[in-house]
Amino acid sequence: MSNRKAFPNYKLKSGWNALLPAREASPALGKNISVDVLIIGAGWTGISAAKRWRSLSPEAGIALIDASEIGEGNPGRNSGFLLEIALAEDANPDQIEKMNLGNRLTASTMAEILAEIDASGHKVDITKAGTYRAAASEVGLKSLQNYRAFLDTAGLEHESLNATALKSRIGSDFYQEGLYSPDCYLAQPAAAIRALASLLPESVQLFENTPALKLEQQLGGWLVQTPNGGVTARKLVLANNAFSKELGIGSSRLVAMHTYAALTPVLKKSVLDHLGSDESWGLLPTHRLGSTLRRTIDGRLMVRSMHSYEKEADQAMIIGELRHRLEKRFPQLPDFNFEHCWGGAVGFTLNGGQVWGEFKPGLYVSAGCNGGGTVKGTLLGKLLAEAAHGMKVPNVPKLFGQASWMPPEPFRKVGYKLATYVESHQGRHEL
Ligand SMILES: Cc1cc2nc3c(=O)[nH]c(=O)nc-3n(C[C@H](O)[C@H](O)[C@H](O)COP(=O)(O)OP(=O)(O)OC[C@H]3O[C@@H](n4cnc5c(N)ncnc54)[C@H](O)[C@@H]3O)c2cc1C
Repeated sequence: MSNRKAFPNYKLKSGWNALLPAREASPALGKNISVDVLIIGAGWTGISAAKRWRSLSPEAGIALIDASEIGEGNPGRNSGFLLEIALAEDANPDQIEKMNLGNRLTASTMAEILAEIDASGHKVDITKAGTYRAAASEVGLKSLQNYRAFLDTAGLEHESLNATALKSRIGSDFYQEGLYSPDCYLAQPAAAIRALASLLPESVQLFENTPALKLEQQLGGWLVQTPNGGVTARKLVLANNAFSKELGIGSSRLVAMHTYAALTPVLKKSVLDHLGSDESWGLLPTHRLGSTLRRTIDGRLMVRSMHSYEKEADQAMIIGELRHRLEKRFPQLPDFNFEHCWGGAVGFTLNGGQVWGEFKPGLYVSAGCNGGGTVKGTLLGKLLAEAAHGMKVPNVPKLFGQASWMPPEPFRKVGYKLATYVESHQGRHEL
């Protein structure tokens, strides 16, 4: 198959999906078809775009293709933090209006996600557990201060915790200080994306295991090649995150950054008794290269950490390092082996901005999740469909930023390596 880089093809299976019952995938595309609109990528962004497009154009022929299977692919590989607020790096009070609008849009999108999950009838572990952010060193404490300033400026509820209070909640004395914010849901992400996909209208043709390999602009539309059939479409939506660059869009602004997660087996009650009073919690790092932690509702610990540039790293190395990072935080854990370990690609942009909008006539893109695109992707997919219908939508580049230019290879990779080296050293106590 040509152009293998055009889509993710993970060696490591998703741990979240492995915990769910088997699911029968929709058939792959096996012939040439012609539609009004083709959406590439059945993730948070693509599913949302497809639903909104259908509601705005009830008669349009819509197809949605994905290189992977719903639940197994990238949208179900994340840590399951569904933030109800749009985090702003810059807590400048002059930006309060922008911050409030971002937060309102994000909160209403989260409410829609919950309503849909509920309507799907699927059993999805999802609770409003809130999220901790915690710092283990000076570098982390500085970033925690910025986060507190943002929450204060935006008038959002939060609670400060010293090391002792944090330890009593989560059972780790790794951190010096933390902040708790209630505005976050914790979900089983593979179950959540399966539930959202199950409500795709039947009139949207879904083809799984169908990677787009190449795009070609034609008179009055686009031709997309897949392994066993071509799709001719008047309009095209790229909702395939980092991989849109491999189809020729956003290549000067996007990188596929891989990051990794692992789940322990269900821990015994005697072990859980020494892991703090909270039965289900999530903790996000204060340093960009730090580690995310979760205690799941069924009594497992999850750790997410480490990054690799444009390809999956070696499994043995990942497992060893994730284990080390979890044990540093919970030395009381008895000897264990992870039950699952996997990675996924994040659409990374240099300034955290989005690649969003109409890039060529009839070609729309929403990419660049930067590691936080579950709720945001759902919102941006919907807004993209609305913008494509000529509706007035909020100014996305102003609200969520516009991805900045990155130098071409090999300078990009060298720059990444250098920046990672420096940042890992500066934030070494947070890793
Ligand atoms: C380990 C990990 C932990 C994370 N934790 C969180 C978290 O807790 N909270 C959060 O908000 N975000 C988190 N993220 C990021 C989150 O997963 C993304 O922001 C989110 O999935 C973006 O949704 P999306 O639909 O825009 O893109 P994706 O989820 O990347 O979906 C894109 C889809 O396009 C498909 N695709 C790609 N190329 C092609 C092609 N050529 N042809 C056809 N299909 C294609 C893929 O198979 C995929 O299904 C995490 C990511 C990882 C890897």
